[in-house]
Amino acid sequence: MSTATKTKISAAVLKQFIAGQWVDGSSTKEIVSTNPADSREVLATLRGADRADALRAIEAAAKAFPAWRDTPAPVRGRILAKAAQILRARKEELARLMTREQGKILPEALGEMEKGITLIEWFAGEGLRLGGVTMPSELPKNILYTTRQPRGVASIITPWNFPFAIPAWKIAPALVSGCTVVFKPASLVPAMAVEFVKILDEAGLPKGVINLVLGSGAAMGDVLVEDSRVKVVSFTGSNEIGRRVHTICGARGIPVTCEMGGKNPAVVWGDADLDLALGGVMKGAFGSTGQRCTATSRLILDERIADKFLGMLLAEVKKIKLGDGLEAGIGMGPAVDESQLKTDLEYIEIGKKEGAQLLCGGARPTGEAFAHGCFVEPTVFDRVNPKSRLWQEEVFGPVLAVARAKTFDEALELANDCAFGLTCAVYTQDLTLAMRFSEKIEAGMVHVNSPTIGGEAQVPFGGVKGSGVGEREMSKEGLHFFTELKTVFLDYTGERRQSNIY
Ligand code: NAP
Repeated sequence: MSTATKTKISAAVLKQFIAGQWVDGSSTKEIVSTNPADSREVLATLRGADRADALRAIEAAAKAFPAWRDTPAPVRGRILAKAAQILRARKEELARLMTREQGKILPEALGEMEKGITLIEWFAGEGLRLGGVTMPSELPKNILYTTRQPRGVASIITPWNFPFAIPAWKIAPALVSGCTVVFKPASLVPAMAVEFVKILDEAGLPKGVINLVLGSGAAMGDVLVEDSRVKVVSFTGSNEIGRRVHTICGARGIPVTCEMGGKNPAVVWGDADLDLALGGVMKGAFGSTGQRCTATSRLILDERIADKFLGMLLAEVKKIKLGDGLEAGIGMGPAVDESQLKTDLEYIEIGKKEGAQLLCGGARPTGEAFAHGCFVEPTVFDRVNPKSRLWQEEVFGPVLAVARAKTFDEALELANDCAFGLTCAVYTQDLTLAMRFSEKIEAGMVHVNSPTIGGEAQVPFGGVKGSGVGEREMSKEGLHFFTELKTVFLDYTGERRQSNIY
């Protein structure tokens, strides 16, 4: 293990946060958070939460709800703004923790911190704008208006790949709307979740408004979705769990948003600026070790430039330096854990068996520097059959599947021939082609001449088909998801007469 930039600290002992108290979980199962770049480094240990803890957290959130609902939205927003200030002051330190716990390289962790803080700032400001509309009535001296009221207790269930930004873009709109929160982060990233909740507490949230349960989703996740006191659920994670969460909420008749997997295509057309496309594909496919729901995992090349572009791509891939993301010059960190590494390697074997042409990568790197980490080489397969599993299924690792198209319509067909529909990219200088792509592609987000990744606080984020159900996240849509709309009919004539409206 290199010690060049790493400060060795002893493992933290983490706790649950319920009703404003830091308490031990009741499960006999211990959660151990280790550094995926070097599993000998234990970052944190804790006793996991079980179903009883989840119920206590829901109870605390339900109890705190009436007072929080009655707190003016601008005041709620100011608490979030304070949290954003604290986060900004601690940004560098938290990014380093993120790299050690999740594995992404430090510049990416800093980028995630910046994005999450910006989202909180944006939602904090929305506290001043959380209103409805007024409308004219058909009747004289009547006014019609709408208001937005918080739904109640929100369960927020998040994955490990963006351990700060995803919780931030769900928790901030829930809180500013006046909902109280039970937050269940992925078991692989407890340390980041604890730091975030500590900061929300320090910023002044009243007791019970935010509650944190760290424990196995399989063991106690259902409680957070099934309990009748939970009025809204926001989930991001795999399709398998998302569909289960969606089914339970559907049966209960409560609003739910599930952001799930992706298999995002980038089309590079013959007239494109190939250097620009190259940068975008590299970032999209191998950034965050391919562990982004928005990662570029399918590349569709215009046959006319395919060989040239692949030559450029392979030259760049070979330059990627793998290693501990805290070290300078490292271009790609490890997979998040042994299980994800195993999945990556399994899909590489599947690709080979399916007859795709392995152009580079395809194995674990060897050598002492990689001996204790979950590293996998950046991998590119060419001539992938669009009906194959490698083309159709989410790997969630640095494995890029390439296919070639003779016409733009064929490229579009290839891009749409997939169960997912989160995001996509097209590289072309032809405005007509770009517009055709934007109109016909089955995806929640479209990037023209930019990578498949990324999102901004003020615009909706989310997917279609197997990638998402429910309301979009971020933006006004993400905010309004946590509120009920109420229409008020107000008659101020002062006359005692019945209206003739039917
Ligand atoms: P996951 O296994 O589905 O887990 C997501 C969360 O659900 C975790 O907190 C997990 O807890 C919890 N969970 C597990 N079983 C549950 C149950 N029965 N009821 C309620 N919650 C339960 O997903 P992941 O492996 O963490 O994340 C990777 C996936 O997330 C990928 O498919 C990726 O595409 C997707 N993702 C999508 C987006 C998007 O915006 N579309 C963004 C990021 C990631 P434990 O950790 O304790 O198991």
